[in-house]
Amino acid sequence: MTKIAFIGLGNMGSGMCANLVGAGHEVTAFDLNPDAVKQAEAKGAQPAAFLREAVSGAEIVVTMLPAGKHVLEVYFGAEGVTAHAPSTATLIDCSTISVDEAREAADKAKAAGFLMVDAPVSGGTAAADAGTLTFMVGGPDAAFEAAKPFLEIMGKNVFHAGPAGNGQVAKIANNMLLGISMVGTCEAFNLAEKLGLDAQTFFNIASTASGQCWSMTSYCPAPGPVPAAPSNRDYQPGFAVAMMLKDLKLALGAAETAGANVVFGKLAEATYANLSADGFDGLDFSGVMKRVRGEI
Ligand code: NAD
Repeated sequence: MTKIAFIGLGNMGSGMCANLVGAGHEVTAFDLNPDAVKQAEAKGAQPAAFLREAVSGAEIVVTMLPAGKHVLEVYFGAEGVTAHAPSTATLIDCSTISVDEAREAADKAKAAGFLMVDAPVSGGTAAADAGTLTFMVGGPDAAFEAAKPFLEIMGKNVFHAGPAGNGQVAKIANNMLLGISMVGTCEAFNLAEKLGLDAQTFFNIASTASGQCWSMTSYCPAPGPVPAAPSNRDYQPGFAVAMMLKDLKLALGAAETAGANVVFGKLAEATYANLSADGFDGLDFSGVMKRVRGEI
C-alpha cells in the first residue's frame, strides 16, 4: 500500500482518485472545493483540509488541475507540495498545461530534489471513471518508472514520450490534429449531404476509404452512423468546445515558440474561438457540424 496525495478532485480527478483508492492505496485528497473533498471521502479517500496536510508523508503526489498557473502554485507556492512533501515523493502532474510551464515545473522540482513527470491524459470523464485513460508522459526514466504503476491503475495506455514536457507535446499535437480532423469531417459530411448523398451511405463508404479518421468512425459529427456519438444527443459533451479551444491555444502558443508552421491549426483554433465567442463553450466540439450547416 502506497501513501498517495491527490490534488484536484474535479470532473477528471474525482474518478482518478477513486480508482487509486479502489486499488488499495492510502489516498489523501485535497481540493479548494470542500464538496469535492467530501465526495472523495465518500469513495474511501482520507480528506485533507489543507494542501500541506495532504502531501505530508506522501510517497506519490498526483495533481489534476485546470491550468499551468494552478500547477505552479500548488507545487511551488509557499504552502505548496515541494515545501511540505518529502523529497523522496514522485510528483505526477496529469493536468493539461503549456509545454513551457511543464518544463519550468520539472526544472523547479529537480532543483528541489524531486522526481517529476508531466502526464496529461487523453480520454474524458468516462475514461477517468473507468480507469481507461491514455497517459502521455514526459520526464526522466527514473521518474517514469516510479510513476508508471500508478498511471496503470488510472489508465489503459501509458506512453513514455521522452524528457520533461514531452507528454504535453504529445497531448497538444494530438489534439490539434483532432480539432483539424473534426472540422474537416464536418465539412465533408455537409458537402456530401448538400450534393444528395446521405450521411449513413457516405459514412459506409468513407469509413473504409482514404478519408477514414477517428473523428468519423468513433465520433461521427453527423447524427446517425455512430450511435454513441454526441451528435445523437444534440451535441451535449463529451468534449466541450471550451476544452478543445484550450488545447488549440496551447498548441498555437507552443508552435510559435518552436517556429512550427500550423496553418490548419490556426483555422481550427479560429473556428472554435468563434463558437466560444458566440456562447457555445458548453457544446460538444463535434457541434461545429451545426455551424458548418449554418444552423448556429
Ligand atoms: P475541473 O475544473 O473539473 O477540476 C479541477 C479541480 O481543481 C477543481 O475541483 C478545482 O476546485 C481544483 N483546484 C483548482 N485550483 C486548485 C488548487 N490551488 N488547489 C487544489 N485544488 C484546486 O477540471 P477537469 O475537467 O477535471 O480537468 C482537469 C485537467 O484535465 C485540465 O487541465 C483539463 O484540461 C484536463 N483534461 C480534461 C478533460 C475533460 O474531459 N474534462 C480531458 C482531458 C484532459
